[in-house]
Amino acid sequence: MVAAAVEATHVIGVDLGGTKILAGLVDREGRITRETQLPTPTSSTAELIAALEQTVEGLLEPSVCAVGFGIPGTIDQTRGRVEVTVNLPLVEFDFRDWMRGRFDLPVGIDNDANAATVAEWAFGAGAGTRHMVMLTLGTGIGGGLILDGRLYRGAVGAAGELGHIVVQHDGHPCQGFCMGRGHLEALASGTAADKAARELFGERADAHDLVRQAQAGNEDAVVALGEIGHVLGSAIGSLVNIFNPEVVVIGGGFAAAGDLLLDHARERVRREALEPARDLVRIVPAELGPEAGLVGAGLVAFEAFDA
Ligand SMILES: [Zn+2]
Repeated sequence: MVAAAVEATHVIGVDLGGTKILAGLVDREGRITRETQLPTPTSSTAELIAALEQTVEGLLEPSVCAVGFGIPGTIDQTRGRVEVTVNLPLVEFDFRDWMRGRFDLPVGIDNDANAATVAEWAFGAGAGTRHMVMLTLGTGIGGGLILDGRLYRGAVGAAGELGHIVVQHDGHPCQGFCMGRGHLEALASGTAADKAARELFGERADAHDLVRQAQAGNEDAVVALGEIGHVLGSAIGSLVNIFNPEVVVIGGGFAAAGDLLLDHARERVRREALEPARDLVRIVPAELGPEAGLVGAGLVAFEAFDA
């Protein structure tokens, strides 16, 4: 137990992923001073929570003033509750109270894409802006909104699910626990790229192969990535029309496709978005890499401490 932080210079940020837990000590400048990583237990809630507790315990020191968690699911901030997660045994769990009771420190929780968004806004590709939209392209598509200089969380904290906007009326079923159809996530995620890769290069191919082939000049791969980029651009065009952001930041593993994806997205944004928002917005890759979620979880912790 650390009842009162001696210096309050650091927090513990925990990025809970579907396959690994990445955690570390983070300071107010977003610097990670200690880092630890372990596989995510997925067999039971008790095992998962125990692993998270042990991870935090291993990083506790007198300078730590709060703990923050980025969680791949929907959060009810009014109750500090994790409502539902994708592929993890964490459902309707009163996470914030549990961890507060466990460590006697302020605890902040947020959706993992929201955490990555605040990190990119503070220290990455969105630094210096007041209006930013972020999309993280991975197995699914996460999203985050910085509106008028702060993270927009909606009525209970469930806002920013930008992967679940409809880009195709009555289209393909979405993924995971989402029962919707024609959502961006089903059409422009890394999973969608995996599917395109299998269709072109056989059952063992995935999004990495698709990107590699496109980079090597394979015309089919270039076209397939371009089609995904067009869908992405249609969604971004709508987001630009709604929010008039200064910048749209594209992160996540599939963002490694770079301009092979983004140039097609930009082309479609020019068609779908209205001026002057269209002419102002920049569509850029994320800058912080795989540690964005960890740094963002740290910022969520500082937010809890400052509150
Ligand atoms: Zn969906």
